[in-house]
Amino acid sequence: MYKPSLLFAASEVYPFAKSGGLADVAHSLPRALACEYEVSVVMPLYRFVDREKYAIAALGEAFEIEMGGVEYPVELFGCEYEGLRHIFIYSPLLSEKDFLYGTPEKGYEDNAIRFGIFNYAIVSLLKRRQYAIAHLNDWQSALVPLLLKDEETISTKILYTIHNLAYQGTFEKSALAELGLDEGCFTMEEIEFYAMLSFMKAGIAYADMITTVSPTYAKEILTLEFGCGLDGFLRHHRNKLTGIINGINAEHFSPEHDSALVTPYSDLSGKALNKKAYLREVGLTGAKKPLFVFVGRFTSQKGLDILIESLPKMASTECNIALLGEGEEKYHAALKEIVSKYPNVYLEFGYDERHSHRMYAAADFLLMPSLFEPCGLNQMIAMAYGAMPVVHRVGGLADTVFEYTDFEPLANRGYGVVFTKASAHSFTKAFEQAQTLYKNKRHYNRIIKHNMRCDFSWQESAKAYLSLYAQLLK
Ligand code: ADP
Repeated sequence: MYKPSLLFAASEVYPFAKSGGLADVAHSLPRALACEYEVSVVMPLYRFVDREKYAIAALGEAFEIEMGGVEYPVELFGCEYEGLRHIFIYSPLLSEKDFLYGTPEKGYEDNAIRFGIFNYAIVSLLKRRQYAIAHLNDWQSALVPLLLKDEETISTKILYTIHNLAYQGTFEKSALAELGLDEGCFTMEEIEFYAMLSFMKAGIAYADMITTVSPTYAKEILTLEFGCGLDGFLRHHRNKLTGIINGINAEHFSPEHDSALVTPYSDLSGKALNKKAYLREVGLTGAKKPLFVFVGRFTSQKGLDILIESLPKMASTECNIALLGEGEEKYHAALKEIVSKYPNVYLEFGYDERHSHRMYAAADFLLMPSLFEPCGLNQMIAMAYGAMPVVHRVGGLADTVFEYTDFEPLANRGYGVVFTKASAHSFTKAFEQAQTLYKNKRHYNRIIKHNMRCDFSWQESAKAYLSLYAQLLK
């Protein structure tokens, strides 16, 4: 069967490099599209990507990118991973850093140039390989459609996905010259954002179609409250915008086949074994008490202010709480202080994929008080592992977690405890509801068993993307 070619570009792809949900999506969505497209995934070759483990080798293609009068060397690398072609862009400035984008406090000073190189390299790939479709993700690849605007030799159609509007790739105006961009595009209709240069605006303005990662977020970003200053601009381009919910990789996030677990499981007795083992692992006691977990970036987006304000009250009840994440220093300090006072709270700083799997397996509830959440994957992972999410009804959380008080065993509809106001008061109330529900074991078990049977895979959402691609190629 003839398959059109698709280049899927992302700045992070699991398992090579990951800082959040984008890497999960860039890992699992391309696989779900490979039934109809000849897919290649492209990402930067960061120095910490394990070349040996994944047999990443030079493709024998090296070239220079000319940007703002400076030449930057680029070398292409590649590997086959799980049946998909992966292309890696190596360029010293882009690649030779310790982190993807910077520390939690601050992005790297030269990020405009670093990701400028990534964008120019993608354009070069499009010229060399003539893909039918380029699917770009977030600000790190958003300049591509602008760079292609006047390229008549390239007929590639472009879909641009916004994973998080809070990260737009805005830089000082001086980056314009460094990126070799024309002064003429520095207008409000194009890439100017309050006297700064915005990568994301280029993607929104010039892509053929735009998606974001849930239907609710697609509506929210058109409003002042959630638009991060781009709501007017997005309203202007709204006819190109669709919201498609993310899925999770059903093989990677499967309690039945998860090598990170002491006992992979498909029923609640197996889950109970994981809970006991996990409590032992982190030194918590009392397997009868509900275990609440939080996994994620310690940032304001994830509701850390609400969480920190609520924690002392929560921790004073009959429960265990385990937190895993990393982020802003002020949150680290506040959390450390709380943990020192409550022996039933366990805290680990860092990014640890396997540990997070053991937490989902052990947990009775996942706490997710996000202020905004474009899609959120944690809540779906939690439901697949039989942990009930406690979520703020916003963005993708509103689309994926339904109020447990309305429980009906409807196919593929997950249930949790949902609160509507982003405040410590509402969050604590939801926590209390969760505690009460947990005491009604029969009802609680019925709901989590139902959640475990739901399909949160890419199957349906991939169809939605395939249908957009088909429209683009018409
Ligand atoms: P984000 O806004 O960070 O992209 P998502 O909910 O979309 O949030 O995706 C988060 C992904 O990253 C999930 O797979 C989650 O389990 C994982 N994750 C986040 N923080 C950590 C951590 N500290 N350790 C391990 N996994 C993490």
